[in-house]
Amino acid sequence: AGSGKFFVGGNWKCNGTKDSISKLVLDLNSAKLETDVDVIVAPPFVYIEQVKNSLTDRIDIAAQNSWTGKGGAFTGEISVEQLKDIGCKWVILGHSERRHVIGEDDQFIGKKAAYALSQDLGVIACIGELLQEREAGKTFDVCFQQMKAFADAVPSWDNVVIAYEPVWAIGTGKVATPEQAQEVHVAVRDWLKKNVSADVASKTRIIYGGSVNGGNCAELAKQEDIDGFLVGGASLKGPEFATIINSVT
Ligand code: PEP
Repeated sequence: AGSGKFFVGGNWKCNGTKDSISKLVLDLNSAKLETDVDVIVAPPFVYIEQVKNSLTDRIDIAAQNSWTGKGGAFTGEISVEQLKDIGCKWVILGHSERRHVIGEDDQFIGKKAAYALSQDLGVIACIGELLQEREAGKTFDVCFQQMKAFADAVPSWDNVVIAYEPVWAIGTGKVATPEQAQEVHVAVRDWLKKNVSADVASKTRIIYGGSVNGGNCAELAKQEDIDGFLVGGASLKGPEFATIINSVT
């Protein structure tokens, strides 16, 4: 881990019921967590209120998506204002499932990020390459293009955490090696230095996501440019998520 405060997010995706979530919240409330770590969880929209009302204040809440502007006639969407109204501090944008399953493109994601930041909602900005892109030697190109779309849109990087999540590692059990992750994190930081500023490059936290679990987090956390994790599957198990949070070095 680098010099910024370690940041660990749990992305619950489209999982859970009232009952399973109340059990998960109980486990999180009783877990002993290192103090020097920012921790957030992202429940499905419909359970945010339940989680907000039962989860310890030690953990902040993120949404898994938000609309590009003010609310209104946008059936099925959730506005940034509504998320703030129910106590969300963050939103995850550009997740690979939204890019590759739902079909969101760079410009649309950039618009969402800009609007969320304009309303003081923090953004966890996800980037990452597909397996065929890695195999074709295009990892950096893809990540830089996704970074550029965020950079072109956002007014400031103060409230942004970048999540590098190679798509081939998400939900597959095939974690990137610490060296593979570190290599991309350094490249992304370097990209920020060249294209935004040295200050933003050194201050912006770059977290890793993709099959992080209680067994592999410690080795990853040792890497100089890995400033935390975005965790899917393993964040649904309270004790294991706590182990990942406590892997801060
Ligand atoms: C994610 O969805 O952001 C993620 C990293 O999932 P998993 O940990 O299950 O690979």
